[in-house]
Amino acid sequence: MNKPLTRLSPPAEPREFGFFLDGRAVPAGERSLIERRSPAHDVPVTRIPHCTQDDLDAAVAAARRAFDDRRWSGLSGAARAGVLLKAGALIRERAEEIAYFETLENGKPIAQARGEVAGCADMFEYASGLARSLHGDSFNNLGDGMFGIVTREPVGVVGLITPWNFPFLILCERVPYILASGCTIVAKPSEVTSASTLLLAGILTEAGLPDGCMNVVTGPGSSIGQGMIEHMDIDMLSFTGSTGVGRRCVEAAARSNFKKLGLELGGKNPQIVFADADLEDAADGVAFGIAFNTGQCCVSGSRLIVERSVADRFAAMVQAKLERVRIGDPLDESTQVGAITTEAQNATILGYLRKGQEEGARLLCGGTIPDLGAGRFIGPAIFTDVTRDMSIVRDEIFGPVLTILPFDTLDEAVEIANDTIYGLAASVWSQDIDKALTVTRRVRAGRFWVNTTLAGGPELPLGGFKQSGWGREAGMYGVEEYTQVKSVHVEIGKRRHWGA
Ligand code: NDP
Repeated sequence: MNKPLTRLSPPAEPREFGFFLDGRAVPAGERSLIERRSPAHDVPVTRIPHCTQDDLDAAVAAARRAFDDRRWSGLSGAARAGVLLKAGALIRERAEEIAYFETLENGKPIAQARGEVAGCADMFEYASGLARSLHGDSFNNLGDGMFGIVTREPVGVVGLITPWNFPFLILCERVPYILASGCTIVAKPSEVTSASTLLLAGILTEAGLPDGCMNVVTGPGSSIGQGMIEHMDIDMLSFTGSTGVGRRCVEAAARSNFKKLGLELGGKNPQIVFADADLEDAADGVAFGIAFNTGQCCVSGSRLIVERSVADRFAAMVQAKLERVRIGDPLDESTQVGAITTEAQNATILGYLRKGQEEGARLLCGGTIPDLGAGRFIGPAIFTDVTRDMSIVRDEIFGPVLTILPFDTLDEAVEIANDTIYGLAASVWSQDIDKALTVTRRVRAGRFWVNTTLAGGPELPLGGFKQSGWGREAGMYGVEEYTQVKSVHVEIGKRRHWGA
């Protein structure tokens, strides 16, 4: 199934998926089914099994066996690379099918979904090289009688909990790197967007990944997710989602087996625009940064911090861009902004739009609800006349809602940018390289863009400062995150005896 010849439409019948255990899809059988309705069309599109604790235990046991008998970690990096490369090729072959289900379940525009899937294939291809280049260290400076070797070993069984905003992209920012390290996986996608994770599991088996190395359990976060974070036989957990559940992961790790944690949590990311920036470019970037994926994006640039001398003019430029954004059926290739993914998220965003006005901010544009016949849509909104204590400025809204705060000096811009519990991402726009680099040094964020935003590839790591999380994903840093370091001391020659 590649490039469609005709305009896409939702399926006549929902597609039913099994969960994925030990190399094969397991049909729901007696288990109840969770049905997903398209957030844009309000018709059923997929059904997945509601897995049980026994299913989770079986998946962890399969991953444990696969790890312990070294069927994957015992292979050479070259052999692992071969599987990852094949998986990348298969993702490209099945890109249209993956993008279609991603759009149906998430509501994102199909053109965007296609771009993300291509990026995911690229991540598998890039990570294949890392499987070969992962290495340790040696110490030849310990004197003639001692040699030191440091090895990097896979952590073991990795639990992977992913959210609904980028179901395939976030998955693929992790899976190839985890597999490159030699670990095995039990994944739990969000119950509302599980299809692309299940498709990937099948692709990996077809690419030659040994059975048990990639398992997928489906069901709600409150039962299956909670079971994972408390599981005694999961060695490391990678969680992406809300700061609230991130905190639960830390508590559960402390209560259970001290599993290692990788956490990518919320963000309230600044877009700092200086008067000397190319304002046309900056306005386009700021509009894109808040409207992309309907703002349901942990790195979306939701706080515009703009130099006072150009603030009004710049706000008008961003407004003009946002008012021309094409909101509509995400299966239409020309749509730029699709549907809000869940009813709960829709209510959250609408709540903040109300709250902003109640708190005294001025809604410059957007916040409208276009009537497209079915589905949940919100026009990208801008708030001006905001103060730093307002909830719309402080909280992660996770929707297309931009706030604008003016600044007078670089110091003040940095101070406002850092005035948040989060530290996931930031962007700075200026044609003065000294100014831009000074800002990148002083704003505490894990990911920075200079004169661009939301750009990137598999080489650079992802992750946050402060309450945006722990650890890094992607790049060689992402592979190393799933390893632990072992020191080996080797005595050379005859031992100098301690005993008589
Ligand atoms: P959650 O943190 O609840 O969901 C993220 C993932 O965690 C999903 O797979 C979810 O499963 C799972 N999960 C939920 N509860 C638990 C639990 N007790 N133990 C283990 N896993 C669990 O986010 P929400 O969907 O509720 O979104 C709320 C807010 O979180 C958003 O408004 C946004 O601010 C933030 N968020 C941030 C994301 C990011 O990329 N950093 C991504 C998503 C949300 P399931 O969906 O099946 O319940």
